[in-house]
Amino acid sequence: MEKYKAVIIGSGIAGMTSAIYLKRGGIEPLIIEKSAPGGTLNLIPSIENYPGYEKISGPDLAMNIYNQINNLDIKIIFKNIDNINLDKKIINDNIEYEYLIIATGRKSRLLGLKDEEKLLGKGISTCALCDGFFYKDKKVVVVGGGNSALTEAIYLSSICKEVTIVHRRNNFTGEKYLIDTVINTKNIKVLYNSKITNYNIKENKLISVTINDKKKIKVDGVFLAIGSTPNSEYFNVKKENDYILVDENYMTSKDNVYAIGDVIKKEYYQLITASNDGIVAASNIINKIK
Ligand SMILES: Cc1cc2nc3c(=O)[nH]c(=O)nc-3n(C[C@H](O)[C@H](O)[C@H](O)COP(=O)(O)OP(=O)(O)OC[C@H]3O[C@@H](n4cnc5c(N)ncnc54)[C@H](O)[C@@H]3O)c2cc1C
Repeated sequence: MEKYKAVIIGSGIAGMTSAIYLKRGGIEPLIIEKSAPGGTLNLIPSIENYPGYEKISGPDLAMNIYNQINNLDIKIIFKNIDNINLDKKIINDNIEYEYLIIATGRKSRLLGLKDEEKLLGKGISTCALCDGFFYKDKKVVVVGGGNSALTEAIYLSSICKEVTIVHRRNNFTGEKYLIDTVINTKNIKVLYNSKITNYNIKENKLISVTINDKKKIKVDGVFLAIGSTPNSEYFNVKKENDYILVDENYMTSKDNVYAIGDVIKKEYYQLITASNDGIVAASNIINKIK
């Protein structure tokens, strides 16, 4: 059994920030990550609201923070965590911790339509930065009306021939500068009060989508940006709509188990708020230990 004072699950900006503060506070943390360091950062084409950078790509910022983690000699292992005993404080039967920080973020929602899962990665995507390139000079649809949908539509408009936003309401819920950019971008069209009711396939390929059970529009790809579900299923702590509930120190209903970033219930889901959560949780652990 490997023993650690503090284990952080997830290496998004929340998890990596908490690791930096723990290490600099004299505690050796272990980060466990199932995919690439940076988490959601890797999906953001351009960040323009992070102090210190007028403009930086998400993957670049992720790499900067990951380099900082490596330079501080913080241990990171790449493994999916699907078995955790919060009473015995044991992860995957071989890692024991005193303090745990859950920083697992959240994942994209799907529409739940027929053939959707089958088409994921083959006509349907939840990541414009990852898959936009495959739709160069093609027609795509973006589903949603919040910041994610608007950001993805703007990014895709620079690659694709035409971008149609399909939004179920009659106005957008995203930030004003994003809405203005969408409205002023020539190759972005908007269908308000609309939803996709069917994916139409020919020879295993998505050829069009049906809108409101009536009209069909020809598309090469669909990008879903309709919200997220927190990755909280393996953690037996108090939650609301699957988002983990925490106190002012980011401690969950379980003693010495903290949760930070997009996996918790809070008002603002941003890079800086995720970092803030990581700082407060790490500082609270440092104070308790010392
Ligand atoms: C398209 C888009 C654009 C955005 N643009 C901005 C912006 O411009 N400015 C801004 O401030 N914010 C922006 N945000 C929000 C911001 O990206 C997030 O709030 C922030 O990245 C969340 O960080 P996190 O560390 O909580 O979660 P994540 O970055 O999601 O990290 C969670 C990590 O946990 C790992 N993980 C999950 N489950 C497990 C498991 N079982 N075992 C091991 N590892 C696991 C994941 O692989 C992932 O690496 C944007 C978000 C999106 C989707």
